[in-house]
Amino acid sequence: MSPKIDLHTHTLASDGALTPGQLVERAAGQGVAYLAVTDHDTCAGLAEAETAAAAFGITLIPGIELSTIWKGVGIHVLGLMIDPEHPAMLEAVAFQSRARAERAVQIGEKLAKLKMPGVYERARQIAGRAEIGRPHFARALVEMGYVDSEQDAFARFLGARKAGDIKTHWPTLETVIRWVLDAGGVPVLAHPGKYDMTWTKLRAFLKDFVAAGGQGMEISYGGENPDRLLELSRMAQKYGLKASAGSDFHSPRMHWTEVGKYPPLRGEYQPVWQGWV
Ligand code: AMP
Ligand code: MN
Ligand code: MN
Ligand code: MN
Repeated sequence: MSPKIDLHTHTLASDGALTPGQLVERAAGQGVAYLAVTDHDTCAGLAEAETAAAAFGITLIPGIELSTIWKGVGIHVLGLMIDPEHPAMLEAVAFQSRARAERAVQIGEKLAKLKMPGVYERARQIAGRAEIGRPHFARALVEMGYVDSEQDAFARFLGARKAGDIKTHWPTLETVIRWVLDAGGVPVLAHPGKYDMTWTKLRAFLKDFVAAGGQGMEISYGGENPDRLLELSRMAQKYGLKASAGSDFHSPRMHWTEVGKYPPLRGEYQPVWQGWV
């Protein structure tokens, strides 16, 4: 039997609920042998994850999930097997940290204009030392009674095309791919089904992604429709992209997700983890 692999997970360093140590322990409990920690725009959880991985006898694949913008669409690019200490990665996280801080202030201003003052301050407190993101705003909106649930917060104020969906701070696709390549990593398109793009638009994106140095695409991830996996495999083959797979696990509270859990890959594909496992 092949080892259990999860190449997409989050910790408290970004919008996950577990410390890196807790995440690694959970992964070990699920029988995961190879785990990539891929927090949004930060490598801050990787050192603790590495220590825990050694203790639990699993292999850590250092990663990051970088935010970028392409033709007005907010896109996530995973950097797998990066060197977090490489100057290019240090530049990446410094740039993104500032982008997130500035964006958070603007999200707060937008919400204040909609007669919801003080959300920025609460979101900052909730984020603590984590890189601040929209999920922290969603929790603040729930706590302050402006919405009934985090889902509701995204549907009304934070999700695509809503007031708090501000993407202008993100660097270009070329920039994020360059950071990953320079840091020795593999740039992988995260969750291609989550951008509300038609197949035609996705193909246009992949052309630009490959031209800029992109090397992989997540074929299977928590939440993807198993019926689409075959088409995603075909597309990856067509564009010469390696296949990746991961849960995008954030929190045990999201009980429909689990570390190491995603639909089985289908079709023919070239695994991105070949050579690592
Ligand atoms: P950010 O990186 O700050 O733009 O926030 C994006 C994150 O918000 C994603 O990685 C998800 O964890 C979360 N998210 C996005 N859309 C939704 C949604 N509709 N409901 C709940 N969480 C969401
Ligand atoms: Mn997230
Ligand atoms: Mn993502
Ligand atoms: Mn993710």
